[in-house]
Amino acid sequence: MTGSSSHYPLHASRSTLKQKSQLESIVADYNVIVIGAGPAGYVAAIRSAQLGMKTACIEKWKDTAGKNVLGGTCLNVGCIPSKALLDSSHHYYDMQHHYADHGISCDNPKIDISKMMARKDDIVGALTQGIVGLFKKNKVTRIEGAAKLAGGKSIEVTAQDGSKQTISADNIIIASGSVPVDIPVAPADHNLIVNSTGALAFDAVPKRLGVIGAGAIGLELGSVWGRLGAEVTVLEAMPDFLATADRKIAAAALKSLKGQGLDIQLSAKVTATSVNNNEVTVSYTDKKGDAQQIVVDKLIVAVGRKPYTADLGLENAGIKTDERGFIPVDANRKTSADGIYAVGDVIGGPMLAHKGSEEAVMVAERLAGQKSEMHYDIMPWVIYTHPEIAWVGMTEEQAKDKGHKCKVGQFPFAASGRARAHGDVTGMIRMIADADTDAVLGVHIFGISASELLGEAVLAMEFEASSEDFARTIHAHPTLSEAMHEAALGVDGRTIHA
Ligand code: FAD
Ligand code: AMP
Repeated sequence: MTGSSSHYPLHASRSTLKQKSQLESIVADYNVIVIGAGPAGYVAAIRSAQLGMKTACIEKWKDTAGKNVLGGTCLNVGCIPSKALLDSSHHYYDMQHHYADHGISCDNPKIDISKMMARKDDIVGALTQGIVGLFKKNKVTRIEGAAKLAGGKSIEVTAQDGSKQTISADNIIIASGSVPVDIPVAPADHNLIVNSTGALAFDAVPKRLGVIGAGAIGLELGSVWGRLGAEVTVLEAMPDFLATADRKIAAAALKSLKGQGLDIQLSAKVTATSVNNNEVTVSYTDKKGDAQQIVVDKLIVAVGRKPYTADLGLENAGIKTDERGFIPVDANRKTSADGIYAVGDVIGGPMLAHKGSEEAVMVAERLAGQKSEMHYDIMPWVIYTHPEIAWVGMTEEQAKDKGHKCKVGQFPFAASGRARAHGDVTGMIRMIADADTDAVLGVHIFGISASELLGEAVLAMEFEASSEDFARTIHAHPTLSEAMHEAALGVDGRTIHA
């Protein structure tokens, strides 16, 4: 290690917290009220309750049957359903393309989309119901309805039947999340032109599918339907593929995804769409600036997400959003209003579930008197294509821009015994280290199980590990994690197996 860090040094005792919360609850209904039960909000509520604060969480999300559900975007129309469909479609694709390599034949595999969707819905149902159980276990009061700040630290809640109640808290945590961005050139009709929510619920595989935006969501949803048989064209306005990823990783990923049949077009800016005869005509300019058109059966608009603050009554608390609609917060994630905090997608930064959850823990613990903090520069990023793309920390280019001299170790999965046994040898791990201190500045993975492999790198970087620390750590054989070990050895030019 180049050093050690302890980020949670001052823990308040439980009894102190209990005394504090009992005192404060003389005036307010709750110590903490959380608005929104996505991964930021439900975690804020559970952690606050664990710390002895009397906590309520208000959620207005209704499922397609009109039932109030917890879990927000992530569980209902985001991380979880997309991964369920990615897994199902991966099995189907593997069966068609890779099972024969293992000596397994399965002639004419069939897909039952309604069963695939039912499986996805069951997974979502089990997990959202799980939060109900967690709320009960932790004594979080669940309030079904729409929350509106009503001035001071009170909140007006409108229930599904229209009835209203006003409740108050010592502290309010806003975790109202985000919604898909609409673009005027491709307005969603929620039938032929859909956003990510619609793309998770197609009832048949479209023959021709267009996707606007080659970000994580566009690539994942394009992969799902491409694996199931759709001809997929992805139109991306930017000239660079995955501009924030390591350049070599992005180039390898682009080649691999194109090889899987995704027609990814860069510098392709969509200028108009029209819907006729159950088809969508998508007009765009290509990289030469020439006008082009494609005709598709479905079009997914995946051009990003925007903060959701509609009907939240921010004005009643004197909170103004910034020019992009995010709620500005200080280092404690406090808004401009005393006692009102905000976490998750609604405050901007990486729009990732784990980012919101960690912010939530930090705010809850700080309200309880602890000194918790989180390190935004050690944020894991994952794109769940196959293989997966995952990284933490700086790319080589970013490190150089910040004045670091870099050493880079790289190891291809083609040289990994375990990857060979899997029959999945695409990609590599790249480790970026500071040439002077050997501190690891970034780890970039394109390959099988990259999301899981990344955990080692994230933890090591939290502890300010050097590449030597990775190199001196024994990795089990044969595992994919040996590729991490070898990449670390490669920082000093002493890779063994490549
Ligand atoms: P949300 O999850 O949006 O939750 C906010 C909640 O607040 C909602 O339930 C909403 O109903 C509620 N709410 C809002 N206003 C009110 C109000 N006035 N009263 C009561 N309730 C209110 N992230 C990852 O990290 N990994 C992934 O693999 C991943 N995949 C994704 C795939 C897709 C298709 C999508 C769309 C997103 C994905 N994300 C992923 C992003 C992730 O879902 C978000 O970053 C995360 O859900 C943000 O959490 P949040 O709690 O801030 O907001
Ligand atoms: P993300 O925000 O990571 O989900 O990515 C959304 C992507 O959509 C970005 O890479 C944008 O460049 C891309 N995008 C936005 N508008 C358009 C457009 N009109 N045509 C094509 N791509 C777009």
